[in-house]
Amino acid sequence: MIDHHFYRAGDLDFGSLDELVEKATAKKPIYQADGYVDGELVCDMALCPNCNNEFEYGWEWAVPYCPQCGQALDWDWGDEE
Ligand SMILES: [Zn+2]
Repeated sequence: MIDHHFYRAGDLDFGSLDELVEKATAKKPIYQADGYVDGELVCDMALCPNCNNEFEYGWEWAVPYCPQCGQALDWDWGDEE
């Protein structure tokens, strides 16, 4: 698990730790839409942008980190409609 306090924005010079920094930077998961309900596109599946691990809507939805690769995830709740 990455200690966020260890990193300071604008002070990143870790070279070989690029991958760690990359994973610590939250990325949006890739939402998978299953179909329409009442004319609204329903997303009930999401993929890790790093390793394509599948997150099903429910118990593993909105986990802060991918349990498989450690990628930090930025869940967007789609409230910008
Ligand atoms: Zn992953």
